[in-house]
Amino acid sequence: MKSLAEYLAKKAKSKIKNEKRRAKAKLLWVADTASRTSVKAKIVRALGLLDRQRNGNSCRIHGAPCVGGVAYHILPQMNGDAFRFIEENVIWACNQANRGEQMNRDLYAQKHRQIFGDAYIQAIRDEAARIKASPGFPYTRAALREIFESVKKRLTEPR
Ligand SMILES: [Zn+2]
Repeated sequence: MKSLAEYLAKKAKSKIKNEKRRAKAKLLWVADTASRTSVKAKIVRALGLLDRQRNGNSCRIHGAPCVGGVAYHILPQMNGDAFRFIEENVIWACNQANRGEQMNRDLYAQKHRQIFGDAYIQAIRDEAARIKASPGFPYTRAALREIFESVKKRLTEPR
């Protein structure tokens, strides 16, 4: 017979699981009336999670299990939408790395070259140039939604 303690432990565990599932669903839900800015933020967040899904929980800048993960741009998203949603440009990294990068772009540009290599970073630049020259750019509201849905789909697909 199951003890009360076992029952409660199981119940608590399933509560945590449900909360996590709900948090993820909320994160991946965008209202029809959502602003462009908020859709953009959701895409970026989802791309960060996609990188985590592929490469694990470790911070990709420090190569360690750092505290607080965020979607991190190798080439800053202040360069615009052509850079913002390139999958290879968004990685999972810690808050500290993200803030460090914002405060000292040159130093982090060097770090990025060491970690990812020149060819990888050049490929991101080339992809951004291709996007900028494509007829689908700048992204319409509908295009942003499409990007979001496609990232979300891959994020929720079973591995
Ligand atoms: Zn880190």
